Amino acid sequence: MTIIRTHVPDSQNNYNHLVYCPLMRKAAAVDPYNADHLLAVAKKHDLTIAQIWITHEHGDHIRDMKKLKAQTGSDIYAPSSCQDFFQADHWLQDKQGVTIGTTTLKHKLTPGHTPGHGVYIHADQDQEENNYIICADTLFNAGVGNVISGDVIQLFRTTEMLSALLPDACRLYPGHDYIVNNLEFVLHHFPWCHAAQKVLTEVSTQQPDTRQMQNIGQEKTYNPFLSLTSSWVTAHPALHELNAQQRFVTLRDWRNQW
Ligand SMILES: [Zn+2]
Repeated sequence: MTIIRTHVPDSQNNYNHLVYCPLMRKAAAVDPYNADHLLAVAKKHDLTIAQIWITHEHGDHIRDMKKLKAQTGSDIYAPSSCQDFFQADHWLQDKQGVTIGTTTLKHKLTPGHTPGHGVYIHADQDQEENNYIICADTLFNAGVGNVISGDVIQLFRTTEMLSALLPDACRLYPGHDYIVNNLEFVLHHFPWCHAAQKVLTEVSTQQPDTRQMQNIGQEKTYNPFLSLTSSWVTAHPALHELNAQQRFVTLRDWRNQW
């Protein structure tokens, strides 16, 4: 594996991530919320933080960006769509590679949750569990990001793009631990979704730091935003007559009221 997840204490239920090179023991810290916490996690794993990668402009994702840069001398890499919101050393275009040591991920622009949002995707042909996406506030387990400062139609298009692009084995590394609440939302509207019930039973006894990883193939069995044309979603009487985009907008609206 080339990624470490850590649940940040006293945060807004944030996950932070270290993407690292196993050979050089260098790491990129993603969306640093608490610089001291990330430095301690890096030390525990014998890693040196050498870069900072940002996904989007929200305050809880750039909170300790400058502090960690000052502490480590790291350059900041961020989506080019964030240029109006904060300062970075390197602006990443859509599909641009970003490399830490011998580990390279692909950056994708993913507007919707915010105009500036981007994600980082790792593909590994040899090691199935090393396929992953750092999706921050775009995709969540059993849900998608809110659109309070974004655009729901853009988020629909981004979700469709990611759903088509990512292999089933790709594991999700979202920016927050929302899986329990999201599964309860799914079961409220789709009580017949046995996959949601099964995963809720599994994860509800786990802690944020030990919460099991889920991949895209699994998500498509209980995340309605990734399953807009599946029979378990279209079976809902309020969604049956709608097209996929209308279903997405309706589901997002229901989630806003949850
Ligand atoms: Zn956000």
